[in-house]
Amino acid sequence: MHKKMKGAVLPGNETAILMEFNIPKPGNGQVLIKIMASGICGSDISYIWRGHKSFEGMDGPAYKGVISGHEPAGLVIQIGDGVSRINVGDRVLVYHIAGCGQCVNCRSGYDISCHGPHAAYGWQRNGGHSEYVLAEERSVIPLPQSLSFEDGALVSCGFGTAYEGLLRAQVNGSDTLFISGIGPVGLAVAMLGKAMGVRRIVGSDISEARLNLASNLRLISAGVLNSENTVSEAIKANNGNHFSVSVDCSGSRLGRTNALRATAEWGRVALLGEGNDLLIDVSDTLLHRHMTIHASWVTSIPRMEQLTHHLVNWDIHPDLIITDRFTLKDIDTAYKLAGSGQSGKICIVDEANQN
Ligand SMILES: [Zn+2]
Ligand SMILES: [Zn+2]
Repeated sequence: MHKKMKGAVLPGNETAILMEFNIPKPGNGQVLIKIMASGICGSDISYIWRGHKSFEGMDGPAYKGVISGHEPAGLVIQIGDGVSRINVGDRVLVYHIAGCGQCVNCRSGYDISCHGPHAAYGWQRNGGHSEYVLAEERSVIPLPQSLSFEDGALVSCGFGTAYEGLLRAQVNGSDTLFISGIGPVGLAVAMLGKAMGVRRIVGSDISEARLNLASNLRLISAGVLNSENTVSEAIKANNGNHFSVSVDCSGSRLGRTNALRATAEWGRVALLGEGNDLLIDVSDTLLHRHMTIHASWVTSIPRMEQLTHHLVNWDIHPDLIITDRFTLKDIDTAYKLAGSGQSGKICIVDEANQN
C-alpha cells in the first residue's frame, strides 16, 4: 500500500481543495476503510463550505479543518487490536459521529447527541472525502451484499435521517404525506415513505428541477413550486384534504410554516431540515389542530443498521436519487454543484468503483 492519500478540506470560502495526508494505521478498536462512495451533505454546504459556522455550547467553528465528508461507505482493509465484530474484507458504511460509548445517549445508540468526548467524521476528525478513512469499530455498520456502496453512503446520513423522522411520525399505509423541500433528504423521505405504505405524497420546493426529478423518479404523486399558495396547491393535490403527516426538509422558515399549515387535525409533523427559525400562530395552526411535532436529528446506530435490512426487504435502492457522480480529483466541482441547490444527491466515488 502506498503511504500517502488525498483528502479534501474546505477553507470556508466556497472551495474544496485536495491535500495529501498520511494513510492512518488503525489503533485499538479502529478499522481502516478504503472509501468506495462518499456523499456530499446539505450540512457540508451550509455549515462548512460556505463558511465555518459555530453551534451553541461549542468554542469556535464546529469544523476543525479536517478531511470533509461524513457519509462514507467502503471496504475494510485493516483492523486494529480489539476489533471483533468487523473483519477485513467487510463492506461497511460509517455512522457519522464517534461518540464516547458511555453516556446515556451513546448507550442507546444516539452517538449524534453524545455528552462525552466525541468527534464527527468530516467535522472534528478526518472524514469521507478521501481515499481512506480511519473509523471506530463502534461507528461501523455492515452493508448487506445486495446494497451498493453508494446505497451505503446515502444511508449513513440522509436516508438515516429520513427514516428516523418517519418512524417518529409513525408513518403508515393510511397516511398522506407532505414533504416541504425535496432535495436529497426530501427525496429520501419520499422513497422511504412510499416503502412504508404511503400512497399519496406531495412535495414542494423552490427548485423546479428538483420537483421534476422527484416526479420523474416516481417518488411523489405531485409537486408544488413554492409560492404564496404552496399550502392550498398542495392540499388541492391531495384531493382537497390536509395531510396526516408532513415532513420539513427545507430548513427554511417558510418551508416549515408550510409543512405545519398543510397538516390535518391530529396530524404529525417531523422537522428534519437544519438551520433558521420557526414562526407560527400557535392557536389556529397547532393547538386547535391537536398537532404533534417531532424535532428529529439524524438517527441511532441500531436504527441505521435496521434500515439497511429494510432496504433489502423492500427492494429499494437509495442510489436512485444520485444525479451526479465525481471522483475525488473533481471535488471542487462537485461541491460547487451541490452548492447550487438544483441537483439530486451528489456522490464522490472511487475511480474503479464497480460496487
Ligand atoms: Zn449529512
Ligand atoms: Zn457519549
